[in-house]
Amino acid sequence: WFIVFEGIDGSGKSTQARLLADKLHQADIPVILTAEPSEGPIGCLIRTLRTRPSPEEERQLFTQDRKDHISRVIAPALKNGISVICDRYVYSSVAYQGARGIDPRQILEENRTFALEPDVTFLLRIGVDEALSRICEGRKEAFTIFEAKANLERVAAIYDALDDSHVKKIDASMSPEEIHREILDYLRLAFTN
Ligand code: C5P
Repeated sequence: WFIVFEGIDGSGKSTQARLLADKLHQADIPVILTAEPSEGPIGCLIRTLRTRPSPEEERQLFTQDRKDHISRVIAPALKNGISVICDRYVYSSVAYQGARGIDPRQILEENRTFALEPDVTFLLRIGVDEALSRICEGRKEAFTIFEAKANLERVAAIYDALDDSHVKKIDASMSPEEIHREILDYLRLAFTN
C-alpha cells in the first residue's frame, strides 16, 4: 500500500500519519513512515534555506526532492512488499507552489510523468483560522499571522478543488481519535474488497 497524507499546516496530518503507521506496525504489516521535504540531500537543502526561493525555483527543488525520495525510499520499499505512508507528496506541490502563482495543472502534469501513484491520499480538511490558532498558539506577531493566513487560504482553496477519486477528504476538526478511526474504517473497506 502507498498511502499519502495531505493538508494545510496545522491540519494534523503528521499525527494521523504516525497513528496509522503505529497501527499497521502493531498488526505486523511491514510499513515505513516517510515525509516530504524528504531526508535526502535536496530535502535537507529545502529545510535549511534561509530565504524563500522564487516560485519556479521552489517548484524545481520539490520536484527534484520527490524524484530522489521515490528512487531512494518509496519505490524500493514498495518493491519489497513494504507499505509506505508519506506525509505530503504531489498535491503539496500542487497546492503550495500553486498558491505562489504556478499553474496547479502544470504541476500535476509534470508530476504525472514520474511520480508513483498512491493507492489513497487522505486530505485532512480544516478551517484556516482553526489551523492557524493551532500553529500560532501563544504567538502575537499579527503581521506574520496575517500573511500566513492569506497564503494558507490560497493553499486550502487549491486542496479543496482537488477532484480525484483516490483522494479521500476527511473532516479534520474532529478529535485525533475520531479521525484515526475514520481512516481505519476507510482502509478496511477499500482494501478488503
Ligand atoms: O509538513 P511540514 O510542516 O513538515 O512541511 C514543511 C513546510 O514545507 C510546510 O509548512 C509547507 O509550507 C512547505 N512545503 C511547501 N511546498 C511543498 C511541501 C511543503 O511549501 N511542496
